[in-house]
Amino acid sequence: MSHAKNFYAGPSVLPISILEEIQKNMVDYMGSGLSLMETSHRSPEYDEVHMNSLNLIREIYGVPDNFKILFIGGGATMQFSMIPLNFLSGGRSCDFTLTGAWSKKAYNDAIKLGKVNVIFDGKDESYTRLPDPASLKATPGASYFHMTSNETIGGIQWKDWPDTGDVPIICDMSSDIMSRPIPFEKFGMIYAGAQKNLGPSGVAIVIIREDMLEKCNPDITAYLDYRIHAKKDSLYNTPPVFPIYAMSLILQKVKADGGLKSIQNRNEEKSRLIYDTIDKSGNFYKSPVDVSVRSDMNVVFTLDSTDLEKEFIAEAKKRQMVGLKGHVSVGGCRASIYNSLPISDVMALVDFMNEFQKEKS
Ligand code: PMP
Repeated sequence: MSHAKNFYAGPSVLPISILEEIQKNMVDYMGSGLSLMETSHRSPEYDEVHMNSLNLIREIYGVPDNFKILFIGGGATMQFSMIPLNFLSGGRSCDFTLTGAWSKKAYNDAIKLGKVNVIFDGKDESYTRLPDPASLKATPGASYFHMTSNETIGGIQWKDWPDTGDVPIICDMSSDIMSRPIPFEKFGMIYAGAQKNLGPSGVAIVIIREDMLEKCNPDITAYLDYRIHAKKDSLYNTPPVFPIYAMSLILQKVKADGGLKSIQNRNEEKSRLIYDTIDKSGNFYKSPVDVSVRSDMNVVFTLDSTDLEKEFIAEAKKRQMVGLKGHVSVGGCRASIYNSLPISDVMALVDFMNEFQKEKS
């Protein structure tokens, strides 16, 4: 059976070589006589995997020494709660940029726990554009400035970052973490669910500046307190062992394949192939997104009618291309082309797009 070309938005594509390696080690992990999934998280075998994942993120992403890297269960949605619980208590306020469905979800949780200033809201333009980062000002005294680097549903991505002075940026990077280098000096914290660029679902990666830990609310329960995870190297409780193991294999592959810069180049090349096809199609395919902020991770496009879109998706499926349906809330089509998706799969999609257009025109 050949493996399908996977354009799902998440959970999403994993390299076949890694799926096979996991399969090989599933029952007997590296000759230990046990599966890693039935091995204590306090064992030397798991400890090596855990530390390997932490160290490789630091090395490949260039995470400075004054940041802690944490693995926390519950996905990025759990962070929508943990951030305001830790940083909005005691009458503190924060800033938010509303750029699409995911930043709205984070905002809806934050407003339940404290005062939120909306710095930008893209609602009137259906979240198809982003502001010039240089035009944004943080509110003096705000506890943090929240943004979503890549809106997975709307297909828009910040290409540059605002200057927020003393107000630390907290950024949801769920759908573009480790897809390009980032200037860590701009951020107080970044976070992401693993299931797009880094592995299977079940864990969030939180990278937090040490001085932020001093600002955490001391009155919340243990699991929700970033300081506890930081102090215990994310081993306060049983961590999500399986996704962290898969992540360690992905990170090793990323390193062997040339690291972050080569990932970025590949990602830009992949997205360019699809956007060029859209732009050259004479409006057969349309991108609703402002050209300057088109996402390199989630390419959103529409066809003339929902019937034609349905047909496009069904025909693609016959060619073993799956996951091309847009999010239920917006419709249309979406090709998610995360780090692990081979460029050959993008080329196959582009060939199909051209073929489909010829057939229907
Ligand atoms: N933020 C963004 C940008 C996302 O794309 C997603 C999931 N698609 C989430 C947050 C929520 O992540 P999780 O499902 O891991 O809670």
